[in-house]
Amino acid sequence: MAAQVVVVGSCMTDLVSLTTRLPKAGETVLGHKFFIGFGGKGANQCVQSARLGANTSLICKVGKDSFGNDYVENLKKNGISTGQNVIVIVPGANLLLNFEDLKRASDVICKAKVLVCQLEITPAVSLEALKMARASGVKTLFNPAPALADLDPQFYIYSDIFCCNETEAEILTGIPVGNLEDAEKVGRMLLERGCKLVIVTLGAEGCMMISVEEPIPKHVPAGKVRAVDTTGAGDSFVGALAFYLAYYPKLSMEEMIRKSNCIASVSVQASGTQSSYPYRKDLPQDLF
Ligand code: ATP
Repeated sequence: MAAQVVVVGSCMTDLVSLTTRLPKAGETVLGHKFFIGFGGKGANQCVQSARLGANTSLICKVGKDSFGNDYVENLKKNGISTGQNVIVIVPGANLLLNFEDLKRASDVICKAKVLVCQLEITPAVSLEALKMARASGVKTLFNPAPALADLDPQFYIYSDIFCCNETEAEILTGIPVGNLEDAEKVGRMLLERGCKLVIVTLGAEGCMMISVEEPIPKHVPAGKVRAVDTTGAGDSFVGALAFYLAYYPKLSMEEMIRKSNCIASVSVQASGTQSSYPYRKDLPQDLF
């Protein structure tokens, strides 16, 4: 069966040392814990979507080394289809994903329900993926992270849903987002640039949404939880939203965002990035 959620994006292996403080230049400090984690915004979003039960495919590039091999194993364990891997021997393989790779994956992209992109790969490649999806009537979900101050304006036009956090919104608009009013202001600005719907995630406050269809901004709050580690919460949110867009297209956008808030707020209650992402079986069944 064709993948319903297709992500074109990055895989990163996080090498994490915990220390009581950061070393100064040239200094060595003792760490008390070390672990290797699977990250990268593209893979994170794809993993969260897959754990909710989506049939997913990740179009990515990994190095031909132990990190790359382990990453592909991690994706397989999460039930993500990577199809034919194009493998190269450089650490920054993400940036080598190119137009040719997209062409080879065009069948996967064009048969998806939702295509998700971010900016941890070459921006022109993300944009091309969005264009390919749009041309086939596939819904496009774009997460402009990490943000670029000089983002190509075409990204707005080819994003059905443009989902950013407060920092990204500030870089894109020059307006610091400190409260809901600011979020509404940047939401309006981004909408005017050509997207159909803008979501600004607001951490513990949930999200603000505004759309061409509903131009009055709406706050969708997140539930109160005890946050342990918020790393990767944004990716959990985007992955969950992609799942709802693909599998529950009749839900209202507000309801999809409310449910995605619930899932992301579960992820902040455990440490790590992908390690904190919940599986469908462990979530309240009224989310499905
Ligand atoms: P990160 O960069 O750490 O991945 P982000 O800054 O992109 O995260 P946030 O806006 O912090 O993303 O959070 C994304 C979503 O996660 C929020 O919209 C909300 O649903 C959930 N969330 C984040 N922090 C909390 C929290 N403290 N309590 C409840 N939900 C949270």
